[in-house]
Amino acid sequence: MPGRVDDMLDQLRSAGRRVTAQRRAVLQALARLGCAQDVEAIHARARRIHPRVGLVTVYRTLEALVGEGVAQRVVLGDDRTRYELGQEHGHHHHLVCLSCGSVQRLDECHLESKRAGRRHGFTVTAHRLELLGYCAKCGVPA
Ligand SMILES: [Zn+2]
Ligand SMILES: [Zn+2]
Ligand SMILES: [Zn+2]
Repeated sequence: MPGRVDDMLDQLRSAGRRVTAQRRAVLQALARLGCAQDVEAIHARARRIHPRVGLVTVYRTLEALVGEGVAQRVVLGDDRTRYELGQEHGHHHHLVCLSCGSVQRLDECHLESKRAGRRHGFTVTAHRLELLGYCAKCGVPA
């Protein structure tokens, strides 16, 4: 969705941020790759857009984008840090396969987090949820 990347770049520019060719490449890579990508995968994709972008630059750019709320980290229980576009680009959850590690996007959300929080006197402003299990290809192990 190239329109979305342009919107994000406009958003960054109007917030007074510098939009470099590297940043643009990282954002485009995030938009094209989809959910929960590790730095290596984002780097590989970004290099197809901007061949000279280095791994360290990609990592720093991702962390800066997280700080600006454009991207978010996804924690799936292992020690890899994964990234994707922020939740303002569509609230969703993840189906994580415990066998092959694949991550699928789940757009439905049935979590009544606001009401559940209120019972504890807690104001919920956001939530994250990863559903763990086995994908159709792997099946549940015997
Ligand atoms: Zn996602
Ligand atoms: Zn699987
Ligand atoms: Zn949700």
